[in-house]
Amino acid sequence: MINTKSPGLPSAAEIDIAALRQQYRQERDQRMRKDGQAQYLKRVDDLADAYEADPYTPRSPRAPLDEETDVVVLGGGWSGILAGVQLRENGISRFRHIDHAGDFGGVWYWNRYPGLQCDNDAYCYLPLLEETSFMPSKNSLTGTRSQYSQLICRKYRLYDNALFHTMVDALRWDEKLQRWRITTRQGDDIRARFVIMANGLLNIPKLPGIAGIHEFKGHKFHTARWDYEYTGGTEKSPVLDKLAGKRVALVGTGATAIQLVPYLGKYAKEFYLLQRTPSCIDSRRNSPTDPQWAKTLQPGWQAERRANFHRGANEAFRPGEKDLICDIWTEVNRNIAAELEEQGWPNLDKAELAARYEEMDFRVMERLRRRVDDLVENPETARLLKPWYRYQCKRPTSNDEYYQTFNRPNVKLIDVSRTQGVERLTAKGFIADGVEHEVDCIMFASGYEVTSDLDRRWGIPVFEGRNGLSMYENWDGGYKTLHGMMTHGFPNLFTTGYYQGGLNSSLTLNFEEQVKHMVYIIAEMLNRGAVSVEASAAAQDAWIRHMRETEVDRTQWIHDCTPGYFNNEGEPDVDANGNEKYRFYLGETYGPGWDAFVNILQDWRARGDLQGLVIEQAPAREPTPTVTSAELASSHAAKTELA
Ligand code: NDP
Repeated sequence: MINTKSPGLPSAAEIDIAALRQQYRQERDQRMRKDGQAQYLKRVDDLADAYEADPYTPRSPRAPLDEETDVVVLGGGWSGILAGVQLRENGISRFRHIDHAGDFGGVWYWNRYPGLQCDNDAYCYLPLLEETSFMPSKNSLTGTRSQYSQLICRKYRLYDNALFHTMVDALRWDEKLQRWRITTRQGDDIRARFVIMANGLLNIPKLPGIAGIHEFKGHKFHTARWDYEYTGGTEKSPVLDKLAGKRVALVGTGATAIQLVPYLGKYAKEFYLLQRTPSCIDSRRNSPTDPQWAKTLQPGWQAERRANFHRGANEAFRPGEKDLICDIWTEVNRNIAAELEEQGWPNLDKAELAARYEEMDFRVMERLRRRVDDLVENPETARLLKPWYRYQCKRPTSNDEYYQTFNRPNVKLIDVSRTQGVERLTAKGFIADGVEHEVDCIMFASGYEVTSDLDRRWGIPVFEGRNGLSMYENWDGGYKTLHGMMTHGFPNLFTTGYYQGGLNSSLTLNFEEQVKHMVYIIAEMLNRGAVSVEASAAAQDAWIRHMRETEVDRTQWIHDCTPGYFNNEGEPDVDANGNEKYRFYLGETYGPGWDAFVNILQDWRARGDLQGLVIEQAPAREPTPTVTSAELASSHAAKTELA
């Protein structure tokens, strides 16, 4: 057998799909709130200071910058780092990263909570492993924050121009200068020919708008700004000894909380976990990298492994293909492949395959619920910890100590699903089922602005393209892009993320392909001495039409999920006036799939005609970057339409 089914997987006869469907529906309906994303506080409402403060790196005073550069990369997380690598590889050296953190790393910089891990396959998740000859020590990254991103930054000399602890206030296209004008809270005025938005998905922590949240007098913080001063321990040695006499509550049960809970259970005098929707949690099996295996790897191995992971997590294994990853992400497809293999790979049509997939989804979730019974001693607690929704309604997680934590006498699970979230905070603690529980500290593992409205997500107060057009207004009612990266009316600007492009299961590979494409365009423009480039309205419209025409409705099931950021907290895609809202990120990806999307980009670059772009050429020969603002302002640019 090439693939084997998961141990403990129930057979189809052991589950009642009709009854499960009904239960899933009930669990969803119980949690649906009318206020959708508005249930969360806006950043300006609260904790704005906490978001901007950096507890990890002291700020060094510096004079405001007044300068001109070729490229500004907004963000120093994975997408920004990979953009920097591409810029260097393409011989572009006049660029600057700007980030409000004190170093590169993005989400890996900010998150330092005890138990922090990246539970994805590290050989897929970490980019450029072959280029850097780096081999992770385990198949998931454990322990403290990843040092690997900084290693890449040193190798590609990204520190040379990085501007940390810098918060962008406004981003405006200056028609006269033909530059992006970036002003910051630190008083900088930077003119950039090109801007790459590398501002990430998990960059803005959010807090639930629980009644009384401002009344609580104890200590409180979001897990993305862990307070070791308060808890004791350090990032490297998370012995939370200062919690020994403390009563602690944690709000949230997503991927962050799952990693953190064993530490709070172990160290706090009393620990309350406030749960609205349980996660599904498999075992972890984080094995050390086998040096013998590493020696066998041939050039191109990482691309092959990522392709295998993508098929396992997001598409389907091919006949004869082995699951190289074998984790919770690939389990459904691995089990299906194992069964098809037993049956000699019968010819199934699309509908039959979809039915198999759905049935396997129910069986895998049942296996995960049985796992709870095996590990949790108190039957009522076990009942509350069971997830009742389809696999991937919430991000699947894995941990070997989470469930056992509930067998400790100092740990109490508080179910807040009936009140659609924590009922109320008071000066002294929280209320659940009408009873006040006093606590010293409330921690919020309440997530990030991932799919909420753009102004919440991007956090840049002013973002204006040509003629003062606001990006927020321009994209109101739906994304408008060419290939997910360029927007008409916003010249020389590139966006990374899940806007209207392909979706690969390795997050970093999405970014790699995007920045490769945008840096190709930037390099072309610099070589041609062009002053601006943007998507033509016609090309943008054609791309959006193509997206819609080829859309595959793989996402209806997400609407039936319990609410969360995967489905816009259950909000409909169309608002009360019939306007389309931003589609949630899984719904706004290219229907024919990742490979088809990458082929489109590759073919487009190979043609070299920059089809669909409007290019403004400087009239006179212009050496690459050293033109002054005054010269540019007085120049009359010639327009070329290549659509
Ligand atoms: P999530 O958004 O996944 O979870 C937020 C949690 O807060 C949910 O359990 C939510 O409940 C709960 N919550 C929100 N409001 C309330 C309320 N009013 N009352 C009670 N509970 C509430 O955030 P995370 O930080 O856990 O994870 C974010 C993402 O970060 C992950 O999805 C993942 O992509 C990434 N991550 C990846 C890791 C890795 O190992 N690779 C590790 C950690 C995070 P409900 O579900 O009911 O909405």
